[in-house]
Amino acid sequence: MTYQYWNEKIETMPRDDLEKLQLARLKDTVGFALRTPFYQKRLGEAGVKSPDDIRSLADLARIPFTTKHDLRDGFPYGFLAVPREEVVRLHASSGTTGAPTTIYFNAGDIDRWTAYVARCIYGTGCTKSDVFQNMITYGLFTGGLGFHAGGERVGMLVIPSGAGNTTRQFRLMQDFGTTVLHATPSFLLHVESRMREEGVARESLRLKRAFAGAEPYSEDTRRRIEELLHIDVYNSYGLSEMNGPGVAFECQEKKGLHLWEDGYLAEIIDPESCESAAEGQSGELVLTCLCREATPILRYRTRDLTAFYTGPCACGRTHRRIRRITGRSDDMLIINGVNVFPSQIEEVIMAMREVGNNYLIEIEKDGVLDRLSVKIEVTPESFSDDTRPLNALKEKIRRTLQASITINPRVELHESGSLPVSEGKAVRVRDKRPKDV
Ligand code: ADP
Ligand code: ZN
Repeated sequence: MTYQYWNEKIETMPRDDLEKLQLARLKDTVGFALRTPFYQKRLGEAGVKSPDDIRSLADLARIPFTTKHDLRDGFPYGFLAVPREEVVRLHASSGTTGAPTTIYFNAGDIDRWTAYVARCIYGTGCTKSDVFQNMITYGLFTGGLGFHAGGERVGMLVIPSGAGNTTRQFRLMQDFGTTVLHATPSFLLHVESRMREEGVARESLRLKRAFAGAEPYSEDTRRRIEELLHIDVYNSYGLSEMNGPGVAFECQEKKGLHLWEDGYLAEIIDPESCESAAEGQSGELVLTCLCREATPILRYRTRDLTAFYTGPCACGRTHRRIRRITGRSDDMLIINGVNVFPSQIEEVIMAMREVGNNYLIEIEKDGVLDRLSVKIEVTPESFSDDTRPLNALKEKIRRTLQASITINPRVELHESGSLPVSEGKAVRVRDKRPKDV
């Protein structure tokens, strides 16, 4: 395979040189951080009073972690490191797990962020002859404008279609010959279901590839989208605290996501002990943004769970790869005392051919016990008025799930297109148990 690099020198940089670059950028970032009220105090307490107190990358360990709570406490301007007049944009997180956090950018920050997104897009083989339909929420969410700018930087024709309204999305794809899509994986699955319902012929479209991210999904879900839509799907990872998309992305090998280490310093820790995880072990990703001046963030606990791949990638890039994110440490459900991650459920059901493109996990109280129900759409081919095959399928899913998560779930089968679809990040879990106060 021939690989195309956006910035070959940086992307294939020897590790020694990459680490030197990281150290220089870490020192710069600490310099900016020391201008913010939050880090003046936090770094001061840790004995880091000037960038020169950071002498090697090992000194990173002297810097305390930053959490989402810290960012919320610092709202609105506690993390601002440049004069307000220099700020040209703000973005916010989606607020999936609580109050959103705000990030500020100066013009240089936007420029650098855009280059990272362009690097990701270009690395999958896109060129200026591509037509890119950005089917993701615009606005405060970073996925819209982030990918928009990255797509333009590559020189593609960018259609800012936003999320939702599949009929209009199909029109745009047909009218302008869209070749590349960006969406959440759940929306891509929804698009595929709607294509069949609306009778849009795949041959009437020129789709080649899609970028799917912003929420966890399994390898089987990726394969399903690829097979149904006849496209290549690349995993895209980012978070607003680290600018947004463009932090880590799959190359054409599709074996893990290259995390751009010239812009983001990555560690993986055990979320309980906060010790760094052994090489290749799974844990929580901790990131330091090395490419932003207006809102420096050091050792941010993402709560996202992943592991580093070991060994080099065939594409020649030297930046380490992370495994697909399996979820957030706080996604974990405790059901009758057993720990279950929603991603474990997705892995089981999306591997089954009869299962359709959408599902929903519900937990309720049933007396003193918790009851787990998994509502699953089945493909139109597997749905019928005859209850016998459906009951057999239900029983098969129940048994396979129980074997994987050790809990006996209630399985409900639903017709394709009948479960709720969200335009932004999919809401896969409804926990209806009363909250302890
Ligand atoms: P929020 O934390 O409110 O959802 P963001 O909109 O910044 O804020 O979303 C970033 C988060 O989305 C990440 O921390 C991660 O949990 C999730 N995410 C983003 N991309 C992926 C991906 N490719 N796979 C799994 N999860 C992802
Ligand atoms: Zn690679």
